[in-house]
Amino acid sequence: MPANELNISAIPAFSDNYIWLLTAGGNACAVVDPGQAGPVLEVLQKKELDLRYILLTHHHPDHIGGVPTLLENYQAKVFAPADERINFEHRACREGDQILLPDINTEFRILEIPAHTRSHIAFYGKSVLFSGDTLFSVGCGRFFEGSPADMQASLDKLAALPAKTMNYCGHEYTQSNCAFALQVEPDNLALQARAEEVARLRKEGKITLPSTLGDELATNPFLRTRESSVVEAARKIDPRASAGTATMAVIRAWKDRF
Ligand SMILES: [Zn+2]
Repeated sequence: MPANELNISAIPAFSDNYIWLLTAGGNACAVVDPGQAGPVLEVLQKKELDLRYILLTHHHPDHIGGVPTLLENYQAKVFAPADERINFEHRACREGDQILLPDINTEFRILEIPAHTRSHIAFYGKSVLFSGDTLFSVGCGRFFEGSPADMQASLDKLAALPAKTMNYCGHEYTQSNCAFALQVEPDNLALQARAEEVARLRKEGKITLPSTLGDELATNPFLRTRESSVVEAARKIDPRASAGTATMAVIRAWKDRF
């Protein structure tokens, strides 16, 4: 690996979370959404890495639970949403903020993407996106603190990034997401191919992430709420569903029952 190139790997946590580990050739590193400290400490010690930065996409315990223990062991800077429910010291990040991570030669732009939670953010830079529980591969997060319109706007914001952007989300949900997406768009050839690839990867015990935004635009029904095939599927449930937000609402409710 050439020096200074951003390297990203997954640290599995709980049953289906991924904590992302970022390095750039030296011993400095960052982690994204460390819901658990144990698996992170193990990797840092084994690889002799020094944790300098912690990036948090939202306040849910399975994304921030490991932070206090990590801060007992490392002097890391924490970047997180502006949310009083995150009750340890952090820099509150807002839309358009540029955060500098000089020790790993990286900077990220903050995108506010509410809906899963009201203060959810994404980190974008170097053709990489950390989208937390908002944009899963072939799916999206539940709307715990936002409306279908919020999720439509948040996903539109992410969809406007370059197609080559690699999306790193918070969970390994891709296989079940593919099963649902095939109910919505059984004739989508790109989706059929992705579902086959994912089934093979999971059979081998391998990770299905990251994917590119281009892949997601072709396969993810929640990024395709203006495609006639997805709108038609929504209309079988609610004949009044129009393209965009109304279709988003119908297919998310459908997925919640799936
Ligand atoms: Zn969450």
